[in-house]
Amino acid sequence: MSILSYNEEVNMENFYDVVIIGAGPAGLAAGLYAARAKMKTLVLEKNKVGGQISTTNEVANYPGSISNATGPSITARMVEQAEEFGAERKKDNVVEVDFSDKIKIIKGEKGIYRAKSVIIANGATPKKIGCPGEDDLTGKGVSYCATCDADFFTDLEVFVIGGGDSAVEEAIYLTKFARKVTVVHRRDELRAAKSIQEKAFKNPKMEFLWDSQVVEIKGDGVVESIVFKNIKTGQTHEHHAAEEDGTFGIFPFVGYDPLSKIYEGKINMDKGYIITDDDMKTNILGVFAAGDIRVKSLRQVVTAVADGAIAAVQAEKYIENHFEE
Ligand code: NAP
Repeated sequence: MSILSYNEEVNMENFYDVVIIGAGPAGLAAGLYAARAKMKTLVLEKNKVGGQISTTNEVANYPGSISNATGPSITARMVEQAEEFGAERKKDNVVEVDFSDKIKIIKGEKGIYRAKSVIIANGATPKKIGCPGEDDLTGKGVSYCATCDADFFTDLEVFVIGGGDSAVEEAIYLTKFARKVTVVHRRDELRAAKSIQEKAFKNPKMEFLWDSQVVEIKGDGVVESIVFKNIKTGQTHEHHAAEEDGTFGIFPFVGYDPLSKIYEGKINMDKGYIITDDDMKTNILGVFAAGDIRVKSLRQVVTAVADGAIAAVQAEKYIENHFEE
């Protein structure tokens, strides 16, 4: 059933050469390239621009970014650049898409958009540990954003869950605020890059709890204790907040899940990630994907922006070949 059967009026003003879903680095780079190629371009973002880097304090490995470049500062420059070239930006949460016809239909909570081509760039979201207490205590001691919430844990204890780049980098950042930061990892060696590990091992405020999983988070209105299980011995151990503190922080950084639910059954995917070729083409003609939402080996700002640029150039070629002037 086409989305148009909702019987909502489709405004010609809402007809674009390319609609880009998501305004993280991939979407903003696509917006910049598409608008610069004089395509009528719309970038849709449900919440705030920047995607995952909007909550990252330091982006040290994006070529050209200097030592104090933050996620939000890089994002602000990307937005400015895309808008300078004429990309339009709207805040809307895309709830449904229809890619079955040549003209693609994108339905947001606020409006319906039609496009000759679509670039899917709505990324991924932090994964949950999946233990009891995690949801109830989110925002009450459990946080997925160190940049946003580190300050609340000044001079308190903090546990960071995970052993990848995100966990270790964010743990290092949290040592600027917390009294002590313990990285809890389910194996006995970190997955994070060696350079990041070295920094962490040298940091006097950091400790490591190996071979351990979080099995429960407890608290009445605020985090009060956390239960760990040693996966080698099977033993559990409950850590309670120090009496003088009353609480502590828990920051899970255990990877990301692709935000691809609305495309299920409409586009080829592998475990929720969208499959593309090297030109960012999906199996649907005129629909491209860029950034963390697609199947790829390295999910970084530098690869996301490259994807965005390629997708926009391919969208332009597609329109040239499939639509008459
Ligand atoms: P990641 O590399 O997938 O690491 C996830 C970590 O969480 C792993 O250590 C994993 O353990 C652990 N984990 C997964 N599920 C878990 C669970 N249920 N309970 C406990 N632990 C769990 O994710 P990421 O660190 O968020 O990084 C994502 C991508 O972004 C990567 O490609 C990374 O290189 C990149 N990134 C790069 C930088 C940088 O270069 N500066 C910074 C941030 C992110 P196992 O190791 O046992 O699997």
